[in-house]
Amino acid sequence: MKTKNFKNFKMNNEVYKIRRQVIDIIYQAKKIADLPRIDVRVGEARHNILGIAQMGDCKIWIDVSKSATNLLQVVLHEICHAVWGIEHDEECPLMSATAKTISDKTAWDCFKKYIK
Ligand SMILES: [Zn+2]
Repeated sequence: MKTKNFKNFKMNNEVYKIRRQVIDIIYQAKKIADLPRIDVRVGEARHNILGIAQMGDCKIWIDVSKSATNLLQVVLHEICHAVWGIEHDEECPLMSATAKTISDKTAWDCFKKYIK
């Protein structure tokens, strides 16, 4: 699974650990939303990109170093794109095009609005 502007990391213990954190967030999301299987890749994105999603196609790519401090927010943002095809919304702290600093609670509250 590949996408432009993103270099997938090869799996090793370190990468596996980070990927595990992303999967854990997806599991948490699955407790409140009926989500399909989501394909995840972790690695390095070009420019200021934190994550990439294939709209409505259940595939996400997460830049692990740039997302380290706000991983929950980035993963929930990409899930909204990937699963429900949600577009950017500058009024929404979670779905604005540029990541804002928000609390985990705010991220979850925003995410809940999009659950279908
Ligand atoms: Zn986005």
